[in-house]
Amino acid sequence: MNLAERDLQVIWHPYTQMKTALPPIPIIRGEGVLVFDEDGKSYIDAVSSWWVNIHGHSHPYIAQKVAEQLTTLEHVIFAGFTHPGAVELAERLLDILPGNQQKVFYSDNGSTAVEVAIKMCLQYWHNKGEQRTKILAFKNAYHGDTFGAMSVSGRSAFTAAFDSLLFEVEFIDLPSEENIDSLKSQISNLKSQLACFIFEPLVQGSAGMIMYEAAWLDELMKYCREKGILLIDDEVFTGFGRTGKPFACNHVQTQPDIMCFSKGLTGGTMAFGLTTCTQDIYGAFLSDDKLKTLFHGHSYTANPVACAASLASLDLFLDPATQQSIHRIAYKHSVFAERIAKHNKLKNIRQTGTILAMEWNTGSNTSYFSNLRDKLYHHFLERGIILRPLGNIIYILPPYCITDVQLDYIYSAIEQALDTI
Ligand SMILES: *Cc1c(COP(=O)(O)O)cnc(C)c1O
Repeated sequence: MNLAERDLQVIWHPYTQMKTALPPIPIIRGEGVLVFDEDGKSYIDAVSSWWVNIHGHSHPYIAQKVAEQLTTLEHVIFAGFTHPGAVELAERLLDILPGNQQKVFYSDNGSTAVEVAIKMCLQYWHNKGEQRTKILAFKNAYHGDTFGAMSVSGRSAFTAAFDSLLFEVEFIDLPSEENIDSLKSQISNLKSQLACFIFEPLVQGSAGMIMYEAAWLDELMKYCREKGILLIDDEVFTGFGRTGKPFACNHVQTQPDIMCFSKGLTGGTMAFGLTTCTQDIYGAFLSDDKLKTLFHGHSYTANPVACAASLASLDLFLDPATQQSIHRIAYKHSVFAERIAKHNKLKNIRQTGTILAMEWNTGSNTSYFSNLRDKLYHHFLERGIILRPLGNIIYILPPYCITDVQLDYIYSAIEQALDTI
């Protein structure tokens, strides 16, 4: 049996209907934006391996730092103990986040970073003796797959089996010039019950790279702040340069109360997550009453290897060459978008920073499950490009080390798809 056949004997893959799935492609090596299969065929990783990779695969600098850490201290319990990597990472991150972020809480992934954020907000009000238990979120939001994160995500085919068990959330439309006043009055009607507002800033990734304007997000954030509603900025996807600035919240004036990070945090090396908060939130848990403690933790909280990978990734991220590359990708995306914007097969093309998304005209069948998705997926795979369409939407968000030549190759494969599919 080859690797793909052995895989199907023993493995259940994420987001995959195993009955109809094609055998998985075994990848045995990665270098820069490329990953290589068993036969040596290379693929450009145009989706950064589910949006996590920002500096390319098997980066030698990250590998070296991780290797050093592995032979120094691989893990230690994080209650009652600490270690240099956790402290240094917290110090350096807080340095580049909005000034009001004062404390870092470590966990394992994006969903847990969101769970921690929600618990911080709900218990913040509980500790203060105020009855604020409702959460505000956007329609079509995605904040993760654990139950709390699923609850604050939009109801969809993915949550259908669990809908009756998810806690109630107030969902509002994305803000725009037209609806901002009506959104405010919706919020105003609920204001004294709302504990927090959680949002994906500027781009709703899983919903299909839906983009909205920073100015209207800022307006909503400001309004919620006035009403005492805590602001959770879920930067799991948008953090670390994706939107063209270091963090999506750098596009708005209002500073969030809580921020969530994962995905690009370790440069895409390994699972890790963290939640940051203000002194005010942290302060609400300080008490002689033990019941006011935040009772949350994971076995691998603040894993030293993950901290080392994150510190190495941060070094690379802050290198001016990386920042230049982010701007170069954003610029090339915009030139390409302008060139194909009028194509009759395209319903829409949109861009935020290094994220470029285009929506195929499909007539009636526009669902995630349409067979256009599979045709597009295979069109790109045959050309050695990993793109993973969300229904009729294809998107590129490459590692920042992608070259102009590689970007042009992806663009031309997209133009071929437009002309032939
Ligand atoms: C991916 C994602 C999550 C969940 O992160 P996982 O590490 O997959 O659990 C949460 N929020 C947003 C905005 C995401 O894109």
